[in-house]
Amino acid sequence: MRNFDYARAVSPAEAVRQHAHGSQPFYLAGGTTLLDLVKLDVMRPDQLVDINRLALKQIEPLPDGRLRIGALVTNTDLAHHSLVRARYPVLSQALLAGASTQLRNKATTGGNVMQRVRCNYFRDGISPCNKREPGSGCAAIGGHNRSVHAVLGTSEHCIATHPSDMCVAMRAIGARVAVEGPHGPREIDFADFHLLPGDTPWKEHALQANELITHITLDAPLAGSCSGYLKLRDRASYQFALASSAVIVVMDGQRIREARIAMGGVGTRPWRAREAEASLAGQTASMDVFAHAASIALQDAHPYAHNAYKVQLGQQAIVRNLRDLTSQERS
Ligand code: SF4
Repeated sequence: MRNFDYARAVSPAEAVRQHAHGSQPFYLAGGTTLLDLVKLDVMRPDQLVDINRLALKQIEPLPDGRLRIGALVTNTDLAHHSLVRARYPVLSQALLAGASTQLRNKATTGGNVMQRVRCNYFRDGISPCNKREPGSGCAAIGGHNRSVHAVLGTSEHCIATHPSDMCVAMRAIGARVAVEGPHGPREIDFADFHLLPGDTPWKEHALQANELITHITLDAPLAGSCSGYLKLRDRASYQFALASSAVIVVMDGQRIREARIAMGGVGTRPWRAREAEASLAGQTASMDVFAHAASIALQDAHPYAHNAYKVQLGQQAIVRNLRDLTSQERS
């Protein structure tokens, strides 16, 4: 076990100040990713700044219809909040599809956004892994890449999927990430927050040094929409997505007025399928229309030795979700 300093902050500004003192500092909230990886010696903090006492546990409706979520709201509290269940069922379902009850009780909204990949080679601490050890290579590309490796957004330097279900729902809904930093507060569009691996896979997000997530603000829900999250995985009790879809649709009788689709388990970041969405607008709902949209969503897929099945599985996650949502609306 390596030694590290521990500090507790009582305001975001103080947390940012304390964080700036370490050379390898990390913010500690629920700890459901961080403490695992510290114990595995994959993350090596020299300082932990505990932010659990910050006043960031509120869920507040804004006058313009958006919903502001404190970074320390737990996944359980967010999933069961009455406004989330009523206005954003896709988010509630995604949260409840993630992890276990015990983990959801500890995991926070900000931490979920920041969670690290589940690639075994990243976590074993010894295999070549550009994310853990820049320039060392990627053991997954020629190794076992069946379950937590992507077919969209990969590079020759990293192919790990982003593991979050919550973020897939937020990608479909639209959101902004509010952060506090050394130069004051700013906001980042959720679509720009998670980075593609490219040739710098160790850079996973758009945060600058010492910045702290304080809130996530969801866009107002689409008027008249219904939404749902479908997660396909090896075990329904507890497992990361092999493929998932977050779908939001607005129907006009038999026609799809507007649709939004985001995917999990297939991309190196929460993946929005905008071309597939455009193909659905104005169409009469049918299995052929859904299948066409799903094929567009995966048209740029680049499978590896063991995960080619994800192309079809990702398509099925979209088709089934669209079928279920549109049949509910039409019945
Ligand atoms: Fe590391 Fe990414 Fe390769 Fe996994 S896929 S070994 S996380 S570089």
